[in-house]
Amino acid sequence: RPRIGVLALQGDVREHIHALEASGADALPIRRQSELDEIDGIVIPGGESTTMSKLLGIFDLFDPLVERLSDGLPAYGSCAGMIMLASTILDTRPDARHLDALDITVRRNAFGRQVESFETDLDFAGITDRAGSQPMRAVFIRAPWVESISPDVEVLARVPEGPAEGRIVAVRQGNVLATSFHPEVTGDRRVHEYFVEMVRR
Ligand code: GLN
Repeated sequence: RPRIGVLALQGDVREHIHALEASGADALPIRRQSELDEIDGIVIPGGESTTMSKLLGIFDLFDPLVERLSDGLPAYGSCAGMIMLASTILDTRPDARHLDALDITVRRNAFGRQVESFETDLDFAGITDRAGSQPMRAVFIRAPWVESISPDVEVLARVPEGPAEGRIVAVRQGNVLATSFHPEVTGDRRVHEYFVEMVRR
């Protein structure tokens, strides 16, 4: 089984650990620099990105994590994790730092007030397009969306309908995967299985 870390400074760490364990990986919380050397992939959970950014600095994890990511460590970020992995962030605090591992521009809290939190069914490339697959239930909690992408970023999912119709909410660039939504809270393991498969290859 691949060993996959979950950055455990803040956010919904436990849910990702459960989802990874149920998807064929050994999952371990990451709080120290030395633990980064023991993993084949990392999940950056949902939570609050500016707080996570601060804690990465306090725990002396920021630079070592950037280094592991630039060496090609596979990574998956959900929600705040997507924000942390992005190269450009709109509507953030000027002092917030991010990991710059994915060539996308994200807008924090993009869905606005009325729809701060909502759920929808969506299509996810490489998952729901397999024969006999059900659509994916996506839970958005004060979520970001992807405002723009560089040409080598693959769009995996968009909002299917409503005021945010067409907005990009899942992407992949090489070894890095990100979703605006939280598959770790639904019991649908397919995104985690997809990531475990990315790590295996
Ligand atoms: N709004 C949060 C942020 O800006 C992300 C919300 C989440 O992870 N559910 O970091």
